[in-house]
Amino acid sequence: MIPVTRPYLPDRRKLDSYLDGIYSRGWLTNNGPLVQLLTERLEEYLGVRNLLLVTNGTLALQIAYRAIGLVTLQASPVRRAVTTPFSFAATASSLQWEGVSPHFCDIDADSWCLDLACLAELDGRDIHGVVPVHVFGNACDIEGIQRLAERWQAKVVYDGAHAFGVDYRGTSLLQHGDATTLSLHATKLFHSVEGGAVIFRDREDLQLARELINFGIGPTGEIRGLGINAKLSELHAAMALCVLDDIAYIMESREAIWCHYVRHLDGCVDLQQRHPLASNNYAYFPVAFPDSQSQHTCRIALEAAGIMPRNYFHPSLDECGFYGASGEASRSRSLSSRILCLPIYPGLSLTTVERIADVVKCSITEAVSG
Ligand SMILES: *Cc1c(COP(=O)(O)O)cnc(C)c1O
Repeated sequence: MIPVTRPYLPDRRKLDSYLDGIYSRGWLTNNGPLVQLLTERLEEYLGVRNLLLVTNGTLALQIAYRAIGLVTLQASPVRRAVTTPFSFAATASSLQWEGVSPHFCDIDADSWCLDLACLAELDGRDIHGVVPVHVFGNACDIEGIQRLAERWQAKVVYDGAHAFGVDYRGTSLLQHGDATTLSLHATKLFHSVEGGAVIFRDREDLQLARELINFGIGPTGEIRGLGINAKLSELHAAMALCVLDDIAYIMESREAIWCHYVRHLDGCVDLQQRHPLASNNYAYFPVAFPDSQSQHTCRIALEAAGIMPRNYFHPSLDECGFYGASGEASRSRSLSSRILCLPIYPGLSLTTVERIADVVKCSITEAVSG
C-alpha cells in the first residue's frame, strides 16, 4: 500500500546518541539544552529570529493569538478574525477555541490562498485579526494582506504549517505578519513527532509567549499571569535535530518526485498556481479535477491499485456548523470536492510516481469516454 505521506525516520543510532545525552543529564523537558539547540539551528536554517518551539502546531496558533494581543487576557467584547475555509480544521478551531469568531473569506481560484478582492470587500471595523494560510506551501499575497490589516488595525497571524523552508523575495516567508506558525507533526515535511513553532516579529511578543507556554511563570520564577503548558520536550527536540541533519536530502527527494509528477501530469489535471516570488518546498502534490465525479472515479482507481491519496481539504471549513463562523465560500467548496493530494515522501520511487500518474491519466480518459 502506498500512503499519501510517510513520516521521515532519521538514522536510529544518531537518535540513540541524543537519548544517551538526555539520560545522562536527566533533563527531560522545560527548555532543556536540546530545545535550545534546536531553536538556534532552526533560526539559522530558516533565516528567522524570535522563534519559539511549542507542543504542536495548533497550540502554536493559540499562543500566537494571545501573545500578539488578538485575544486579550481581560474579558473583551466579541472578537472576529478573517480566515480561509480551505485549510486543516486547526486553523478555524484554534480561533473558536480562543473565543474568536472566524469569518470565512473565499479563496483565489488559482493560488488556492485567501482571495484579496474578497477580503477587500469586508467592513474592517469589526475585524480584529487576519489568519491566512500558505496552503500547500504557496505564499499568500503578503503585501496586499499587510495593507488591509493596517487599514483595519487588525493583527495578522500566518498559519505556515505547510510552509517550512519557503523563501519569499529571497528571505524567509515565515517572518511576515505579527507572527507565523509552523506544525512539526510527523506527517509534515520537517517534524519532531509532535511539535510546533511560532515566529514572532516583535521580541516582546516572544517574551510574553515564553511565559504563556509555561503556566504564566516569568523569568524570575513567579507566576505573572494566566498561562498554559505548551512546552516541547527534549525527546521531541532530539528527533527534530536528527531530521534537520537530513533536510537537504528530504528536500531533494521531494523535488525530484514533484517534478516527475509535473512531467507526467501537466495538462491532464489542474495544478496550484505558485506565487512567482516564492520558492517551493515540495511539501504536497495536490491535483484538481474538473468536477467531483472525475475526482471520485480517480480515487477509486487509485485505491484499487493500492494507492491512498487524501482529499485535503474536505470539507471546506465553511460547511462545518461548529466553528461559530460566518461567511460562505463557493470556490473553496468547489475545490474541496475536486481535489486529491497524491503520495509524496522521501523513498517513494520515480517508477511508482509514473505508475500513480498513469492511473490518474487512465481514470481521466475513462471519465471522458464513459
Ligand atoms: C497540520 C496543520 C495544523 C496543525 O498542526 P498540528 O501540529 O497537527 O497541531 C494547522 N494548520 C494546518 C494548515 C495544518 O496542516
